[in-house]
Amino acid sequence: STMPPLLAAIANAGRHGVLVKSATVMERVGRTDLVAFDKTGTLTHGTPEVTEVVPRDGYTADEVLATAAAAERFSEHPLGRAICAAAAERGLDAPADVAGFQALPGRGVSALVGGAAIRVERAQSGDAVPAAPAAMGTLVGVLRDGEPMGTIALTDAVRAEAPAAVAAVRAATTAPVHLLTGDNPAAAARVADATGVDTVHAGLMPQDKADIVRALQQDGSRVLLVGDGVNDAPALATATTGIAMGRRGSDLALDTADAVIVRDDLAALPNLIALSRRARRFVV
Ligand code: ADP
Ligand code: MG
Repeated sequence: STMPPLLAAIANAGRHGVLVKSATVMERVGRTDLVAFDKTGTLTHGTPEVTEVVPRDGYTADEVLATAAAAERFSEHPLGRAICAAAAERGLDAPADVAGFQALPGRGVSALVGGAAIRVERAQSGDAVPAAPAAMGTLVGVLRDGEPMGTIALTDAVRAEAPAAVAAVRAATTAPVHLLTGDNPAAAARVADATGVDTVHAGLMPQDKADIVRALQQDGSRVLLVGDGVNDAPALATATTGIAMGRRGSDLALDTADAVIVRDDLAALPNLIALSRRARRFVV
């Protein structure tokens, strides 16, 4: 072909379901020293399911789930969609009177449901915790006017191709592979064990993810981060190369990223690194 090598590589990546935004990005991907992954929607499918609802005294499981679903009605977060789906599946009548919805990235949602201030958010210690093995999953607390109503446990399946993708990027880089997540340490460890990730950072707020990326860059390492959510946008912007998982990813993540994996397949990442390295051999 008479195409310049980096342009040919971008076209090739496109045929394999990866949108690379510039020749500079195509070139830089191959120089990655360290890869970090987000968990939810990146190493996992991002389609969690409710496994257990544990009510506090004075509430039923159905009340907790229906109230949470009402507050999550306008949520674009995978956990919010899973809670709404579980309520619908159980045929629960969604409380009609919902106002003042607010998404709290990396934390949860808040809304007025029937005039009560409802928050559905990252479980605090002291929330009713379901017995193992559900405790290996994501735990969210449901609060009514600041008082806990109960806890909802969810799990999200690890992508089948994730272990091979993690092994391939480790072989292609010089550093351990990192996992950055807002979820609890037990849920993060489960995904790290299943995928072979070396180093886990859990319980992070969106800004914490960016701070960790910056810390990993301190020794000059070029850090590539893969993420999908609004909560990943600051870290995607900070990373040397930010890559969005596009299929179900948020618009903000797509805008912020340097490249987008449009095909729902993590194997695209090691392929992209290899493609960049091959193309660079022809660049003078
Ligand atoms: P991750 O870093 O794994 O992609 P997020 O940063 O999106 O996860 O969320 C971190 C944590 O905040 C979740 O594990 C959950 O406990 C809580 N959370 C976030 N969004 C919601 C939501 N819409 N409803 C309930 N809990 C949420
Ligand atoms: Mg995510």
